[in-house]
Amino acid sequence: MASAETRREELKAVWQQAQTCVKCPQLAATRTRVVFGAGNADADLMFVGEAPGANEDKQGLPFVGQAGRLLDTLLGEIGMSRSEVFVVNTLKCRPPGNRDPLPGEIDACQDYLFRQLELIEPRVVCTLGNFATKLLRADPATGITRLHGREEIRRIGPRAVRLYPLYHPAAALYTPSMLDILRTDFGRIPELLALPVPEQPEPDEEELVVPEPEVVAELSEPEPGPEPEPVAEPHPAQLGLF
Ligand code: URA
Repeated sequence: MASAETRREELKAVWQQAQTCVKCPQLAATRTRVVFGAGNADADLMFVGEAPGANEDKQGLPFVGQAGRLLDTLLGEIGMSRSEVFVVNTLKCRPPGNRDPLPGEIDACQDYLFRQLELIEPRVVCTLGNFATKLLRADPATGITRLHGREEIRRIGPRAVRLYPLYHPAAALYTPSMLDILRTDFGRIPELLALPVPEQPEPDEEELVVPEPEVVAELSEPEPGPEPEPVAEPHPAQLGLF
């Protein structure tokens, strides 16, 4: 198992890669910033939201608007703060006009999320709302109304985590009954964090195989490649946070 420092360095490399992502040409054309996620890169608790909104797009940080303030309040009520958790979204770019993420966008973006989950190694993953819940449970038919507040152990990529679906804070902002439910569900997070780490699956066979280095008989002079793309400067708040 890699050290926290190694995983953090790898996470920074994924962050760097995401900064210039154009897998969704429409989102790449309309975004101000890629909102990779922020927090403690070795957190036990991760939150997965839907997609950046206007504030997040401007600042390059997740959950910094009204829904984010509610998330902070709910975390405070269980004695936790943002600096202890890692917060990400299913999509890293803002859908124009805050429309719902499209299936093709979720497909295109999911590798970033799976890498984040693999490198941060959380024990508990709270999905906020339908999009994150359906993606991480790999079940598009079952929605958050049925699933909220019911934890389950799920294998996501190479690891098993406790997945804990919650209502999205943005939905709870406007529906007091939903806020009550979200608050009650939130109240169980400390209990879930105190449970033992779920039993981990055996590493896949191909992960165990160390590939032999290829022997290249003769190396010809490489063709001059294209100019490297300018590397985006890290957003200071983001890198400071992980
Ligand atoms: N809603 C989300 O799902 N994510 C954010 O970052 C902000 C609002």
